[in-house]
Amino acid sequence: MASLAKDFFIGLSNNEFLNKSAKKFGARFGAERFVAGTDFDAVIPVIRELNKKKISCTMDHLGEFVTDREESERAKEKIIHMLHQINEENLECHVSIKLTQLGLDIEESFCIQNVEQILKVANDYNIFVNIDMEKYSHYRKTLEILKQLHQRYSNIGTVIQTYLYDVEKDIEELENVRLRIVKGAYKEERTVAYTFKEDIDRNFLEIAKKRLLGKAFTSIATHDHRIINELKKFIEEHQITKDNFEFQMLYGFRVDMQYQLVKEGYQFCTYIPFGEDWFGYFMRRLAERPQNLNLLVKDVFYTEDEKIKKQPIIIGSAILALLFFLGKRKKKE
Ligand SMILES: Cc1cc2nc3c(=O)[nH]c(=O)nc-3n(C[C@H](O)[C@H](O)[C@H](O)COP(=O)(O)OP(=O)(O)OC[C@H]3O[C@@H](n4cnc5c(N)ncnc54)[C@H](O)[C@@H]3O)c2cc1C
Repeated sequence: MASLAKDFFIGLSNNEFLNKSAKKFGARFGAERFVAGTDFDAVIPVIRELNKKKISCTMDHLGEFVTDREESERAKEKIIHMLHQINEENLECHVSIKLTQLGLDIEESFCIQNVEQILKVANDYNIFVNIDMEKYSHYRKTLEILKQLHQRYSNIGTVIQTYLYDVEKDIEELENVRLRIVKGAYKEERTVAYTFKEDIDRNFLEIAKKRLLGKAFTSIATHDHRIINELKKFIEEHQITKDNFEFQMLYGFRVDMQYQLVKEGYQFCTYIPFGEDWFGYFMRRLAERPQNLNLLVKDVFYTEDEKIKKQPIIIGSAILALLFFLGKRKKKE
């Protein structure tokens, strides 16, 4: 059942028609709890509040799978504008970017050009730029681009997904690069990725421990208290200093645990998504944790004072099913 729900929401997250349609609504259906706002100005107070609590932030201007050059260029300009604002406002924060938003599916050289323009500005301000890792079909290209740009810019890093089998060699090659370690959020074939939680968790722990003993900075990005507790023990046993790694969690998730880790003296960074392109991101969060579905149900069926909305539940369900059906048809076309 959990796997069916996961497949369903991952299917929705990839649906071009639904992604485009959802933009018109603004973050809704419970997504506003996980998406900090539609523009950067609105998010600045959120960053300030977190900074006051000694939490740094990484900003994700939402958007992915872009196939239009102008849209990619607009995204690049927005990210550059955000870098200027981070600098002007003196915010403790860096940026996370997605290569498919910056033109990877259009033309590789165009994408590299866009990323390089972002990196130049970020470099002037001493701001770190993280390349988020997307589907496995983009994995090799992402690493190639990262390695190429890392020769010229030290303020760049990326993400390793521990559900992938063949990351060990990449981890070794990237020993001098800042990395974020995550489990992985996409649906991948069994030929390339572990599907059992125990395997993914074991690989996460192995890779995180290896990185913690290494030289480059590491971000341990998980909401999994079991993994965090085991790593905390490992850090203590090996007397690893707290300045060469941080914990990361997504905005709106396990907020008490975020504060607790800061209280214990760990560096902490919150990943903050914002922008109009919230649908794919939100659907992946539903796929990971179907309990988040109650936010969607509340928004569709209940009023703010928790009263059931007038329309019967069946109409709401029919709308969701229709959206899904339309999305599938549109995809086939
Ligand atoms: C900062 C950050 C950046 C990321 N960047 C990427 C990326 O670039 N590419 C990518 O593919 N993926 C990325 N991800 C997503 C990641 O790959 C996982 O899909 C996601 O984090 C879910 O896995 P998990 O490790 O948090 O724990 P899960 O395996 O989802 O959960 C493990 C256990 O933790 C507990 N738990 C988890 N969440 C909660 C909660 N909200 N409340 C209470 N208990 C909870 C439950 O007991 C659960 O069984 C990122 C995640 C984070 C946190």
